[in-house]
Amino acid sequence: VSQGHGFYDLAEPVEGPASPGSWSYSTLSEWRACPRRWWLTRAQYSGFRGRYPRRVYAATVEGQMVHDALEKFIEHIEAQIAQGITDYMTLRRTFPVRRVMAERRKLIEAELVGNPRIDLQALRPKISIDKCVDAFRRVSATMQSSFDPSSFGERQEGTSGKPAPQPGAEVTIKTIDPPLGGRIDWLSGREIIDFKTGERDEKHADQLRFYALLLWLQTGRTPDALTLIYTDPVERVSVPVPSESELQLMRETLASEITSIEKEIGSSTISTRPSEEVCRWCPAKAHCDDYWSSPSTRHLRLGELAGDPNRAEGDFFIADLEVNGLPSPDGGDLIMGEAYCPSLGTVQVELGRSWRSIGSAPEQARVLGAYVRRTDQAWMVSLGLSSEVFWKCGH
Ligand code: SF4
Repeated sequence: VSQGHGFYDLAEPVEGPASPGSWSYSTLSEWRACPRRWWLTRAQYSGFRGRYPRRVYAATVEGQMVHDALEKFIEHIEAQIAQGITDYMTLRRTFPVRRVMAERRKLIEAELVGNPRIDLQALRPKISIDKCVDAFRRVSATMQSSFDPSSFGERQEGTSGKPAPQPGAEVTIKTIDPPLGGRIDWLSGREIIDFKTGERDEKHADQLRFYALLLWLQTGRTPDALTLIYTDPVERVSVPVPSESELQLMRETLASEITSIEKEIGSSTISTRPSEEVCRWCPAKAHCDDYWSSPSTRHLRLGELAGDPNRAEGDFFIADLEVNGLPSPDGGDLIMGEAYCPSLGTVQVELGRSWRSIGSAPEQARVLGAYVRRTDQAWMVSLGLSSEVFWKCGH
C-alpha cells in the first residue's frame, strides 16, 4: 500500500495465485528462477488490487517501444501487400515510425499511471523517441532478408487437418497437452522470428525452441528456420531447428515439469531460490523473509564496504537493509535515532516521512536501496534518491 512516493505499508498476501491456464515461456522462466517470486508477484494483497507493481526504467520503456513498433511494421507490411505494394524500401518509407513511437509511448505511459513505484514525471523526460527511431531504422534494414511478400496472408497447411496459424505479427498459439502458450513476434512463412531489445541471453535460443514446439504441436510441422533479431547492437542470430524427436522429448519434459509445478502451487509451501543474481531484480523482495536472512543474498544486503575493517569515516554504500526497533517518531514525520540492523548491528537512522497513514508508528522497516554512510561512531542509514521504504507495524 503506497503512502506517497517511495513509502509503503508492507501488506501481507491474502490469497495466492491460481495456476495459469497455459504456461508461456516467460511465466515458466519466472517460476524456474524462483517459485516464490512467481507466487508473490501474482498474489492478492490486502488494500491493493491488481498485479504487483514493478519499478520501470527508461531503457525498459524504450525497449518495449522499439519492440512494439517492429510488430506494427509487420502489420503495416501486411496491409500494404494486400494493396499490391511489395517493394520493401517503399514499405519501409511509408511506415510512419516516429508517429508510431509517440503513440506507443503514450500507451505505455497510460499503463504505468497508478503504479505507485514509478514517478512518471521523472521518468518521462528520460525516454527518447529519437533513440527508438534510430534503433528501429537499424533493425528494419536487417529484416529485409526475412521478407517474403508471398508468405503474407498465406496460411500454411498443417498435417492431419490441424489448423495452422496465419503468418504475420504477434501470432498467438495455445496448446492443450501440455498446456502451453506463446506469442510469436513474427511468423514469416515457416520462419519464426523474435525481436530482442535487451542484452544477449542464452535463454533467447531456448525461447525460440519453445515456439518451435508450439508450432509443431499445433500444426504437426517443424518450422523452417528460427531467427533472433537483436536491436542493440543489431545482429541476426540463427538458432538450429530442433528435430521431431527433440521436440517430442521437450514436450514430455515440459508436461512433467508443469505437473509438478501445479502440485506445488496447490500446496501451502512455495519454495524459494535465493541468489544474488535472481534476488537483485526481484520486485517483491520486501515480502520475502528468505531474502533478508539467506547467506547467498548477503552481499546485496551488506554492500561492499560494511565487512571491511578499514572502513573510514565518510565511506558509504547502497544496500537493502532491514532495520528493527525503530525509535518513536519525533513529533513530526521524521524517524530519527538509534535502531538495530541485523547485518550492521546498532545503527543511526534518519528515515523520512509518511509513516502516519499506517495508523501506528512502525517497528521495522525494510529499506531497498538505503544510503549507508560511516560516521565517526556508527553507520548512518538514510534514504537516497531511489530508495524505497516498506514499513512494518506490530498491528
Ligand atoms: S527475494 Fe529472491 S528468494 Fe525471495 S522471492 Fe525474490 S527472487 Fe525469490
